[in-house]
Amino acid sequence: MGQIYYKTEEEIDLIEWNCMLVSKTLAHVGSLLKPGITGAEVDAKAEEFIRDNGALPGFKNLYGFPSTLCISVNEGVVHGIPSDYEFKETDIVSIDCGVYHNDFFGDAAFTFAFPNASEETMELLNVTNASLYLGIEQAVSGNRIGDISYAIQHYCEKVHGYGIVRELVGHGLGRNLHEAPEVPNFGSRGRGHKMSAGLVIAIEPMVNRGKRQVKQSKDGWTIVTKDGKPSAHFEHTIAVTDGEARILSDHSIIEEALKNNGEMKNFSIKN
Ligand code: MG
Ligand code: MG
Repeated sequence: MGQIYYKTEEEIDLIEWNCMLVSKTLAHVGSLLKPGITGAEVDAKAEEFIRDNGALPGFKNLYGFPSTLCISVNEGVVHGIPSDYEFKETDIVSIDCGVYHNDFFGDAAFTFAFPNASEETMELLNVTNASLYLGIEQAVSGNRIGDISYAIQHYCEKVHGYGIVRELVGHGLGRNLHEAPEVPNFGSRGRGHKMSAGLVIAIEPMVNRGKRQVKQSKDGWTIVTKDGKPSAHFEHTIAVTDGEARILSDHSIIEEALKNNGEMKNFSIKN
């Protein structure tokens, strides 16, 4: 992925504005979701919301992707294209969103659960989400990328027996959606790039309830689990500082929207 670009405080502020708009967009989505609604309907609302806020959808037309949101249902891991499929009571949907504004990107993702998602699947969501914060804890100046990778992998695979996707990874973010360094969700402590203040990265565990293997579906975009079991995805963009990482996106407003929604499962997650 090439060169690593460290960001100034001013640049991090711009990226934070973008990541907050992504979070607000996902919260807006969280207020609209209900069984029977389609991904295409939600995608149109998300695009309108982003444009009304003076920004551009960050994913649309990037690498040829056709939509504002990536919506990946159940065994979908990432990169699902919003369609006319009507969401069911038992589904989970991973929704990934990006925006572009003031020459910078913002990126975050959240997995939503419809009211009758199984307990097993809810456990997958909770563990995946918790692993994101274990990864963020390691994102401090002087640590290495491998410290983040190891924390996520150990918790999901060793402690909980889930499968960590290898083919897709987190990434640096700035003037490009995907910059160096790669941030894998698997790896060894003490390995990889040594982090210092000004590094902005997206940390995004993609975790399968069954085996880790994935394949590309026939639409040419959606990545799905090979064994057909569900997969979860939570993502924050963060800035490394000399202290704790600064989390630039915000999942708590999405949770709040779900609480007020009433037609979706609201589950308490760590922030
Ligand atoms: Mg994302
Ligand atoms: Mg990302």
